[in-house]
Amino acid sequence: MHASWLGLRGRIVLALSIAFVASHALLATVAVRLTDRMLERERRRSASATLSVLATAIDEGASADVLLREATSSGALRGIELRWPGVEAHTHGRIGMGAVVRVPLRTGGSLHGWTEPPGAEVTRPLADLLLLYFAVTGSAVIVLGFVALTVLVVRPIERATRAADRLASGRRHEPLPERGARETVALSRAFNAMAEQLRADRQALEARVAELERTTAELRAAREQVLRSERLASVGRLAAGVAHEIGNPLAAILGLVELVREGGLSEAERAEFLGRIQRETERIQKTIRGLLDFARRGQGSSAATPRSTSDLSRIVEEAARLLAPQKDLRGVTLERRLAEHAHVRGDPDALAQLVLNLLLNAADAVRGRGHILVEVEPDERGDWIRLAVTDSGPGIAPEVMGSLFEPFVTTKPPGEGTGLGLAVCHTIVERHGGRISARNVPGSGACFEVWLPAAGPEARTSDANDQK
Ligand code: ADP
Repeated sequence: MHASWLGLRGRIVLALSIAFVASHALLATVAVRLTDRMLERERRRSASATLSVLATAIDEGASADVLLREATSSGALRGIELRWPGVEAHTHGRIGMGAVVRVPLRTGGSLHGWTEPPGAEVTRPLADLLLLYFAVTGSAVIVLGFVALTVLVVRPIERATRAADRLASGRRHEPLPERGARETVALSRAFNAMAEQLRADRQALEARVAELERTTAELRAAREQVLRSERLASVGRLAAGVAHEIGNPLAAILGLVELVREGGLSEAERAEFLGRIQRETERIQKTIRGLLDFARRGQGSSAATPRSTSDLSRIVEEAARLLAPQKDLRGVTLERRLAEHAHVRGDPDALAQLVLNLLLNAADAVRGRGHILVEVEPDERGDWIRLAVTDSGPGIAPEVMGSLFEPFVTTKPPGEGTGLGLAVCHTIVERHGGRISARNVPGSGACFEVWLPAAGPEARTSDANDQK
């Protein structure tokens, strides 16, 4: 049985009691036995003397009957038997129990006497005396032993335990007093040394943690900086397409304004021209707003833990819309296979950046002519959402295959590529608890595959409510 409920003091009392009882029980038994034996011997000796006197008297012709009765009634012997050969034995008192003493008669025959067994009246006082002695000495030994062990062993252990508890809970260590028995002093010294060492280690650790926190903060700031620059780079690239996109409606507006100014139009024509001017202006406004939205997005929020949910399919649609005006995408077919309700838990702005980076890279790879396939679909169990961008370009160059997601890895000529796009993608995916990989598809170009954790059903519901 596990007896940890019994403290050190309890155990000491128990051990002392057991040791005391074990050693003194033996002593008591030996004392009682020896006393018994001595009494027995004494009784035999006096019985044999009594019987010798009786035998002499009987041999000299005294009446055996009277003598024997007197002897038994006086208590000297318990029972006496006089045996003569050929004659029935004379018996007095109780015979057959206890020790027997035999004395021969000179005239033939013999006297047999039985002594009294040792009575309680003899052994009882001795037992009481022994008990008293044991009680007194036992209590004294237990109390003294208890006090000595408490002072010498238990107290120092308790002090050390309290100090260890204080240390463990991070409170200030108060040195243990270095006094008492040699071993106690050694224990206190060792403990104090350990506490001092721990204090130094803790200080060093705290300094390291503070330094690490500073470095982490700096790294986070640097990462945010990279994300921001990447976003601005994308905006710059998109701006070219946007400029082209708004060029046509602007030209149309200018022409229409010219016609209206020249006059000579019927009221109906004027109204129609003004309507067209309004529609073209709205188109320009929409295009510019799309770009501005993207540029403004995520300012100050990109470091936040992704908490909201976003429909990845919708994000792909938006990115495709932003990309559509790009000049170098005119000869490219952008195929979309987008599952409905592909909800992921994450920051929509960062995810938009991720999709845009992959699409821009694919656009670069196909060099204005080819095919880009974007797929968004949940896995079989609905735990993950897969985003894949496959292009018909030349595939990933072998020299960058192993380090694609590291920053500043690029095969593009200076001024064209920064080598940060995929590193940013990797950071975004990692922050969302997902994974990203790249491979070359035989007979086609590169395929970039991203797995993101799907948002739970409750997130989807709340998202659906938001959209209503
Ligand atoms: P950058 O586009 O500025 O070079 P990225 O990190 O986006 O930086 O890309 C790093 C490199 O990965 C590119 O220079 C290119 O060699 C390779 N890469 C990226 N996407 C593709 C792709 N779709 N097909 C082939 N190679 C690619």
